[in-house]
Amino acid sequence: MREKIKFSAAAVILAILFVLCRLAGAGLREEIQQVRGTAGKTVSAFVVLDAGHGGIDGGKTGVNGEKEKEINLKISLHLKNLLEEEGIQVKMTRSGDERLGKSQVEDLKARVKIMNEEKPALAVSIHQNSYHEENVHGAQVFYYEDSEEGAEAADTVQAALNAIQESNPKEAKSNRSYYILKKTEVPVIIVECGFLSNREEAEKLTDETYQQTVAAAVRDGIINYISQN
Ligand SMILES: [Zn+2]
Repeated sequence: MREKIKFSAAAVILAILFVLCRLAGAGLREEIQQVRGTAGKTVSAFVVLDAGHGGIDGGKTGVNGEKEKEINLKISLHLKNLLEEEGIQVKMTRSGDERLGKSQVEDLKARVKIMNEEKPALAVSIHQNSYHEENVHGAQVFYYEDSEEGAEAADTVQAALNAIQESNPKEAKSNRSYYILKKTEVPVIIVECGFLSNREEAEKLTDETYQQTVAAAVRDGIINYISQN
């Protein structure tokens, strides 16, 4: 009888030890998940990605017929995957070829509404630029003039983009008139990934490898910004 009690007690203790080990393991896994991919910093965060234009609104057209809306979506989807790999939660304003309202104003309002309601650590709107002088090229980030956080995020993402355009570095630029920058209440930046008016860059922007390179640079910038805040 005494032996039986001893045996049961040992079994109970073993079961408790087993459960404790499992719990400790789960906690450790969670911790590893949070710091994965960074220099020991926690990057568990939430970001809204906004692929500009869509549906009837194609955005700008490239010199070789490239459609801005398509490039915006492709880069945004690459960026979403790359951020999720780092444990960052992502919400897209659109993930297909659609406009979010009947008019352009309604579409922009819908995007701003998502950003304000979701309250991400950062909202990133992806676009492509165009200019009347063909030689102008390179990626540039815009932020709302009165937003300190926006300026900081823009500088950080611009620095990461300059690492892939060393011969053509740009400075982040403030703006007062872009609707999304003006109306969004959380830190927001617009990334103009390149100029569709430049033949060489327009061609590069439709290339999947280059789209991934741009997305990876933007990811690095976003992670650096989030890690500092
Ligand atoms: Zn655009």
